[in-house]
Amino acid sequence: METRFDSLIAAAKQAAQSAYTPRSGDPVGAALLARDGGIFSGATVELGGSVLCAERVALANALLAGKRRFTALALYAQNPVVPCEDCRRALREFGDLWVIRASSDGGVQSATLSKLANGGGQGERT
Ligand SMILES: [Zn+2]
Repeated sequence: METRFDSLIAAAKQAAQSAYTPRSGDPVGAALLARDGGIFSGATVELGGSVLCAERVALANALLAGKRRFTALALYAQNPVVPCEDCRRALREFGDLWVIRASSDGGVQSATLSKLANGGGQGERT
């Protein structure tokens, strides 16, 4: 499975480099795999007092490209992150996706969205 998601993780890692995080300095990159094989990326954007999460930036990116069906989301960060509640709710509109969480130490964890929501991950925000 990790092989299957290698390119998705690579896309998330690359996206993290484009994050705009002047306040937290804690970039997260996301890459969403559409059912047709397309990959749509996003990264943390901190503007004013609010934060646009990488997951929802990737989702918006994919939606604007006309995609509506997804199979997996990869996240890349210094330390493994779990999608926040708002992101989980947004992603859940499109089914129970696989969420692959990669970190800079090379660790990769994967779980379905519903598993994460049930405490399958730590409660870090992205
Ligand atoms: Zn979020």
